Amino acid sequence: MSVTSSEARPTPQLAARFRALTLGRLVALLGVSVLLGTTGALVDPAGWRLLGWTGLGYLAWNLFALLLPAHRGPQRIALDVSLIIDAAALGVTLAVTGGPASPLAFLLYVEVVALTLVFGWWTGVRICVLLSMALIWVASTGPPALSEVVGLLRDSDLALASALEPEIRTVLLLLGMWFAAGLVATLSTVTERELRGLIDDLALLREINHGLDSSKSLAQVCDGVADTLVGTFGYERAVVWLAEGDELIAVGGAGLDAAAQLELGARRVSAKAYPLHNALRAGEPWPVPRDDPRPGAVERMLGTQTPLVLVPLGEADQPLGIISAQVPKRVGRPPRLRHRDVRLLSMLAGEASLVLDNARLHAELRARAVTDSLTLLPNHGFFHQRLQEELDRARRRRERGERAEVSVALFDLDHFKDVNDTFGHPTGDRVLKAVARAADRVLRSADVVCRYGGEEFAVILPDANGRDAVRACERIRAALHATEVASDDGRPLPRITASFGVATFEGGPVDRPALLAAADEALYSAKRSGRDQIVRAPEPSDLRSATG
Ligand code: GH3
Ligand code: MG
Ligand code: MG
Repeated sequence: MSVTSSEARPTPQLAARFRALTLGRLVALLGVSVLLGTTGALVDPAGWRLLGWTGLGYLAWNLFALLLPAHRGPQRIALDVSLIIDAAALGVTLAVTGGPASPLAFLLYVEVVALTLVFGWWTGVRICVLLSMALIWVASTGPPALSEVVGLLRDSDLALASALEPEIRTVLLLLGMWFAAGLVATLSTVTERELRGLIDDLALLREINHGLDSSKSLAQVCDGVADTLVGTFGYERAVVWLAEGDELIAVGGAGLDAAAQLELGARRVSAKAYPLHNALRAGEPWPVPRDDPRPGAVERMLGTQTPLVLVPLGEADQPLGIISAQVPKRVGRPPRLRHRDVRLLSMLAGEASLVLDNARLHAELRARAVTDSLTLLPNHGFFHQRLQEELDRARRRRERGERAEVSVALFDLDHFKDVNDTFGHPTGDRVLKAVARAADRVLRSADVVCRYGGEEFAVILPDANGRDAVRACERIRAALHATEVASDDGRPLPRITASFGVATFEGGPVDRPALLAAADEALYSAKRSGRDQIVRAPEPSDLRSATG
């Protein structure tokens, strides 16, 4: 899974090749045993014991190698050990079957070709070096010296090979040739299958990438991930849950029924619930059999008694969320994740985690770009954009003959400079924050209060006529009066007051600058008339602008 480091990660390719080669060795051992057993004349009588022990040792090592975990570290070491053991076993085999003239010398070529084919040129070079050493040992250590070393062979004539009948030599040659061809063909298929798998994976990765775009919203990215699972991977239904505190929220989905689709964005489940917690902790795809319990929220989204797979997103200690998908129905078979399933799901999770992380960052940046950092209200830029949208909407409704008004109010704190001068800037900042909170609290949810600049605020009031807007401003004005802010030195602050200017768009050819100019004019008229009051701009008919 993407959440583990690449070193500790199992490497299916290396594992498959190593396994194939180990199986090939066992087949070769069987072949050579049968061959030597049936043509007994090939081995010196005294060499059988040494050959027997060599064969047993070879068998034991290769069986052990088959059981090794599919991790890069152990398998790399096992490969190196295997090369040495191969060279030693081949050396002994040749030594007791005629030395360099042995009819089994073709095994040297098979070994070199097979290893080069499966593990590449560098392994080929290494086995060549080892086999050369073995061959030199066999050639230079004549049978008498060999017998001294191992104490097993007495004086004997090992030039058996040359004494073999020509017919037996021919049969051996043919067997050797077919064996070599079969082994090399099998091993090259392993490499070929692996390459084909990699090409498929690459194509899929491209498709995954194509569907995921981090400039989209989180919900759109989650939908994209779910779509990939259903559309490309062939899962029945999928829901992508994002972590929020200790909970997971269903954010995106694909293949869902209408009721489940409506729950997207709202349905929550505890991240500690079985089996979500287990999958998150495991950090890799987690199969959930048909009859295994699962939280009600998951059942409502993905149906009851369905075989599922859960794929965690993000790091195990900092999960981003989890993908849940209903495994395609294969009659009578519980979901069993094959190696390839795990690899593809992990690939998707890795990509999705990256894209989600980026999308989250994008969303944060977008929000920060339109948020005032002191008051956390939308800023000046957002205000203009939003006001334009509201005016356009109202204008379209007017064109359809419907009623539509938009009011805008500007308010400016009275004598705010004095607050700063008397109590200090930090206290002034606290007043601005308190004003923002107070205004936001008393407005309808459809109204938007923004920090227009300095100690000036702007409110967009959709569907509010002039009178509605004045009433809203009255509520703000009262809320400001009631707002108390502590100063740094404990001295009481004067009552917070502000002057308001209200202008309303009622469908005439009024544009945004004209509307704002009218509100601004009204505000300054409120200041001139003694502050702490609300002034409405003249009726819209008087607000015509030349540009319309
Ligand atoms: P008036 O009633 O005419 O509006 O008087 P005023 O003192 O409020 O008006 P003026 O425009 O002279 O002063 C505005 C002050 O607001 C000056 C500026 O230092 C202060 N101000 C603007 N932005 C901030 C801010 O972010 N924090 C603080 N503490 N003060 C700010
Ligand atoms: Mg002011
Ligand atoms: Mg001002």
